[in-house]
Amino acid sequence: MPDTNKCPLCNRELAEPIVRHHLIPPSKGGKDSPTVPMHKICQAKVHAVFTETELKNYYNTVDRLKEHEDILKFIKWVSKKEGGFFDTTIKKK
Ligand SMILES: [Zn+2]
Repeated sequence: MPDTNKCPLCNRELAEPIVRHHLIPPSKGGKDSPTVPMHKICQAKVHAVFTETELKNYYNTVDRLKEHEDILKFIKWVSKKEGGFFDTTIKKK
């Protein structure tokens, strides 16, 4: 299996629901920015931890997203969940 079937954030295999995460938010001029496929829950977490301005200004690579302590805690937590698990309590920042 190529690595492209893995979520770049949590490194689990991709499973529905999958979304394409814009590395620069479309609302901040990132409409044509590169996208990476990731779990819906992983993208929800990214948007719960960072504002769109923070995403545009600094957290615009997957490596940088993983520098944040809350994301690291999330990755640890979500790694024990089913691929398709989604937590509706995660709210966008
Ligand atoms: Zn993921």
